Parts: sequence; structure tokens; C-alpha cells
Amino acid sequence: MSKLSVHIETFGCQMNVSDSERVAAKLLDSGFELTDAADSADVILLNTCSIREKAEQKVFQRVGQIKHQRAERQPLVGVMGCVAQLEGEAIFNSSTTVQLVAGTGATERIPSLLERVRGGETRVLDLGEREEWAGFEIPTALRHSRHVAFVPIIEGCNKFCTYCIVPYSRGRERSRQAFEIVEEVQKLWAAGFQEIQLIGQNVNSYRPKSEKGLEGFSGATPFSRLLRAVASEGIPRIKFTTSFPRDFHADIVEAMEEHENLCNWVHLPVQSGNNRVLRAMRRGHKVEDYLEKVETIKNSRRAISLTSDVIVGFPGESKEEFEDTLRLTEKSEFHGLYIFKYSKRRGTPAAKLDDDVSPDEKARRFLALESLQMSIQSKIYMEYVGRKVEVLAEGFSARSQSDLTGHTTCQKVVNFRADKEVIGKVVKVHVTEAKAHSLFGQLV
Ligand code: SF4
Repeated sequence: MSKLSVHIETFGCQMNVSDSERVAAKLLDSGFELTDAADSADVILLNTCSIREKAEQKVFQRVGQIKHQRAERQPLVGVMGCVAQLEGEAIFNSSTTVQLVAGTGATERIPSLLERVRGGETRVLDLGEREEWAGFEIPTALRHSRHVAFVPIIEGCNKFCTYCIVPYSRGRERSRQAFEIVEEVQKLWAAGFQEIQLIGQNVNSYRPKSEKGLEGFSGATPFSRLLRAVASEGIPRIKFTTSFPRDFHADIVEAMEEHENLCNWVHLPVQSGNNRVLRAMRRGHKVEDYLEKVETIKNSRRAISLTSDVIVGFPGESKEEFEDTLRLTEKSEFHGLYIFKYSKRRGTPAAKLDDDVSPDEKARRFLALESLQMSIQSKIYMEYVGRKVEVLAEGFSARSQSDLTGHTTCQKVVNFRADKEVIGKVVKVHVTEAKAHSLFGQLV
């Protein structure tokens, strides 16, 4: 039989990007071809996101589009990832175009599932658990970047925040063995990657089944021991995201102080600045606990940049409660803040609550918080002007082929003029200008 060409489209978070890389590697290994051309591919795989209902609708719109655009020669369409896990068999009923539904644990089995469709089965469903993470390598060319690699260390979530679908789509927390992670980092470093990002829904809730790979590394939690183990491999930059406030201990900051290659950036979502709202969200932390962690981060010897997420207009959030979020934002001095207007997510406990903050009021709160954050952030960004920062040159800037772009260790975007030869290297840039979300400068 001739080789089938597969086109993968990825929606959503870094974990999905990483899963798509793994699927691509598995497919190549199993004799499939990969293609960027959706209009001629034999197979189109949609790796989906379900964090918001809108994201989920996008998937069905895309399936309809494929059916319409490829009316002459229909490709085999597969739905993978979070929507597949949540909706399962129902996807076949809502679209006859889809022949494969593979949940979040099925990524490594995609080639054999596709073979089953090819063999004549019309509805192949796999919502099973993930097999081992190890056992194969992802070629550099299949990674989303040649310089920055995502390394999953934990997936799933046990926290069950009332607004969030992730514990249902990704299942309970499962941590990878530390020795496998360290081995993957060694290989990435040997292959020339300059930065790795340890990823997971709650990266600092990391709890592997055994200590293998962590022996000899000190730390109050398996996560801080893992940070030390990975840092001792010597790769220039290690970032980690996302951290869960309740599991964020001072020891993580201590590890960052000990190892320069643990980058000075922490993403610690707070979601609200009011204790009643935090309780209704079932976040498991209070405002006081969060601010204590903020203090630990701010008092560090390293200049750590702190970023966060906030939801405005959660059911029942009063104006006064929202103002508490403004106060917390002022105190925390975030270097970056992702603000979301609450929207009901079917299947979550919060969906049963009355979504009683009007769209206009949500928009007002969004703008008020955004404007406060912008004033804090522009002050922080202006302080970089005149300083020299180390930037990993990751590629050309989106605006111009004569400018390069990259990130600092504290996760600021920096655009600068330099020759393309420096791409893939960590270079010094003299910052000359600051905008709301990025810095500009000259190569030193
Ligand atoms: S910690 Fe809460 S918000 Fe984060 S993935 Fe888990 S349930 Fe969702």
C-alpha cells in the first residue's frame, strides 16, 4: 500500500503542541508521511482544545469546512485531544465525516488506529490511558521550534476548580519518571536546543511513582528536586509552566537562586483577589497565601518576573469583590496578566451557577483590570530601557525580515536588529525602547 500523507492541525495549549509533536514522530516512525497541505492530505487530524465552548465549536466548524472544501476527494478526518476525550462517540453522531476519535491518552496509538480505519472500520474510538512516554524520540524537525523544546512532566489535574474542564478532559494527575525527563533534556541539549520548558497543567504538583533520577538532589518537594536534577545537566535555559499556588513552595525559589539556568520567570495564576470568589472557584488558596508567595518571589536574590491569570465576572462576583482583584493586582505588580471574562463551560460545576454578571459589566471589569495592569506593566517594561538583557534569538520578527525576535530569561519578548546567523544563540541586547508587551533594542 502507498504511504498515507497526514496533516495535523493543533489548537490550544502547549500540552497539545507537545502531543502533536509526539503523534508526528510516531506517524513518521510507522511509515506515514507528514504534510503541511491540508488541501491534498489523505488524513487530517485535528488536535483539539475544549477549555472554552467557543474553542470546541471551532472544531466542528473546521470539520464542516473540510467536508465542503474537499468534496471531490474526502480525506480521512480524525479528532484527537480534549474535545475527543470529552465528547467521545457523540462526535461520530454529529459528523459523518469523522472516522477516528482519539482521546488525550491515545496519542501514541494514532498510527495503529489509522490503520484500522484504513482496513475498513468506519468509526474507530480510543479513549484509553496514555502508555509510557518514553521509547521514542521526536526528531528536531518535528518540534515546534529548533531552539526551545517543550518537555511534559505531568499531565492531568486533581484540583477541580469549579469553572474548569481540564480534570475531565485530561484526567487525574500523572507524573513522568524523573530519569526519563532528565534523559530527554540531555538529548535536547546534545541536539542544540538552548531552552527547555517543563510543562504541565500544574507543573509543581509533580509526584513521580519513584525517586529514580532524583537520587542525590535535595529539595522539599519532588518538583524542586527535579528542577535541581534538570538544572545540573547544564542546558542554558530551563523554564517551567504552569505553577499552582497551593503547591508553590519557597524551595522552588531557592532552587532558582542556586541555579542560574533556572530562568527567572514564574507563572502563578491567582484567578481572583477575593476569598469568597476563590472559595466559589474551589481554588484551594486564599488571597493571603497567594500574597505570601508573591513576597517570597519578590524578595528573591534573582529578579524574578511574575505573571498571572485572572477571571473577571465569575458567577456572583460583586463590584466590591472585583475591586479586591484590582487591589491584589496592584500589590502583586505582575509583569504580565492574562485576563479572561468568565464564560460558562458545560460539564463543570460552575455551569450550574447563575451567570449573573452581565456581559457589559464583565467587559467593564475586563477593561478596568487591563488598564491597571497596563500602567503597572509599562512602568516595569520602561525600567528595562538602557539595560542589557540576554535574549535567545528564536527567529525573524513577525513584522520584518531584518529584525529578529526572542525571549529574555524573564520571558519578555525582545525585537532587535541582527544578522540571521545569531538565530539559535543567546545574545546580549541593549534595550532602547519599551512597548506594552515587548522590548526593542540593539545587538551588543
Ligand atoms: S488547577 Fe484548576 S484551572 Fe488549573 S487545570 Fe486544574 S482545575 Fe483547571
